[in-house]
Amino acid sequence: MRIPKTRTPQKGGKMRTINEIIVHCTATRASQKVTVADVTRWHKQRGFATIGYHYLVDQAGNVFPGRPEATPGAHCLGHNAKSIGIAYCGGLDASGKPADTRTEPQRAALLGLLTELKQKYPSASIHGHRDFAQKACPCFDATNEYAAL
Ligand SMILES: [Zn+2]
Repeated sequence: MRIPKTRTPQKGGKMRTINEIIVHCTATRASQKVTVADVTRWHKQRGFATIGYHYLVDQAGNVFPGRPEATPGAHCLGHNAKSIGIAYCGGLDASGKPADTRTEPQRAALLGLLTELKQKYPSASIHGHRDFAQKACPCFDATNEYAAL
């Protein structure tokens, strides 16, 4: 899997220090199609400049860039300055309850994306949003699942 070139910082720009990679869900039903445009709209409604995540992974396993990696995200209070935020579309079951709704393509894409990011930022540790907030997000134990990366 290839990550789009848009992640590359601008020429002359200095990349931030990244010490955490934080996994999220969009807290939407598994059946709901969610695009970068949707999340951008929702996050702007919450007062963010644009989408708060750096990558969005849809149910088909497509990886879409959000914010450039060189720009701090808006996804985890107190952790944005030195982290990359990625989200998979889903996280709620049919009745709207938190659930690990990742499809097989989504699991594979997340693993591929995290593997590449970990190679790029070897000293960064991988976490789930719930490690830092009283939330279910991302509705699975990301820290444990990706501990070997
Ligand atoms: Zn989250």
